Amino acid sequence: MFKSVLLLGHIRGIRLEIHVSWLVILALLLVTMTTGLRQQFPEWSFTTAMTTALVTSLAFFLSIVLHELGHSLVAIRRGVPVRAITLFIFGGAAQMSRDTESAKDEFWIAIAGPLVSFALAALFLVLLAFLSGWYEPLTVALGWLGAINLIVAVFNLIPGFPLDGGRVFRAAVWHYTGDADKGMRAAVAGGRLVAYGLFAVAFWNLLVLGQLMGGIWLLLIGWFLLTMAEGHGRTYEMNKRLAGIKALDLAEGNVPRVNGHTTLDTWLNHQVLPWGQRAFMVEDNGGHLLGLVSLSDARPVPREQWLETTVAAVMTPLSEVVTVSPEESAETVLQMMNERSLNQLPVMANGQLSGWISRQQLLRTLENQLELRQLLRNR
Ligand SMILES: [Zn+2]
Repeated sequence: MFKSVLLLGHIRGIRLEIHVSWLVILALLLVTMTTGLRQQFPEWSFTTAMTTALVTSLAFFLSIVLHELGHSLVAIRRGVPVRAITLFIFGGAAQMSRDTESAKDEFWIAIAGPLVSFALAALFLVLLAFLSGWYEPLTVALGWLGAINLIVAVFNLIPGFPLDGGRVFRAAVWHYTGDADKGMRAAVAGGRLVAYGLFAVAFWNLLVLGQLMGGIWLLLIGWFLLTMAEGHGRTYEMNKRLAGIKALDLAEGNVPRVNGHTTLDTWLNHQVLPWGQRAFMVEDNGGHLLGLVSLSDARPVPREQWLETTVAAVMTPLSEVVTVSPEESAETVLQMMNERSLNQLPVMANGQLSGWISRQQLLRTLENQLELRQLLRNR
């Protein structure tokens, strides 16, 4: 399967990932910067221009990581867990496991990124001042890095979701009205306004100035911001409804099980077909869990071998099965199942299976849970 996200490594337990779109931007940046440098400094050799472009691009990449790390470390210090930092076409995002609980947390987490970018800009520009007149490619790189970090800091402070400024705006409205929802709505509205503003400038570029590339680029950024702002708004409303529902509430107790020694032939004909279940937990004779087997594990095995192949031979071993703790929030459960395209998610605590969440049943269980809560509230 094609993966759109590549794992680079871990920093302080946070996954550092790049979305493939970032590689496209990196390549584009490399080509345009090399060409630009060759035009601006004809006396430079091709190798010098390309090396400068490469080093500058990588330093820019590192600057964005540091910006996101700024958000992440402040978030962790304030008790908001961060799962991953993802770098994609228009920059980066720190993925937090839950929403902030106070306007102050929201403000400091949001402002930390632009502050890091301002600090980096200052660092590069001070270095430039000290080293000016020294090795030319180095000073060119420092000047560019100073400018771009300044642009990143300022652009991110525009007060509309999903930009950092949108979060700062949200924190401000939240602080002064004491209402987190109002803050959220204001930030999403701000995001929409910023997107419409970008559309207007884009059309002005296209129709009045006749600048095709600039116009299309602005349209893309505007459209991206609009989608993100709307998405944030929807997720927020959804999570508010889901608040308090846990993985265990969504789990079914009747988990289909199969003995590891069962042949594929017996399993498929006597359990899968009549029960209409696509996945089973595999256990040994003593009832200990060994792993999880699903129809897709059996698919690559030729039919002639079904009689001599056991389910244990094709299953996913327990250590590799994605599981969730009973206390995990419904929000995280949905996110995990979507992100990893899981059809079932065993709920486990201390090696004991307490049920599982299946995609087939999930919506119905969720509806029941929400209805039940409504009932209890109306009493
Ligand atoms: Zn940021």
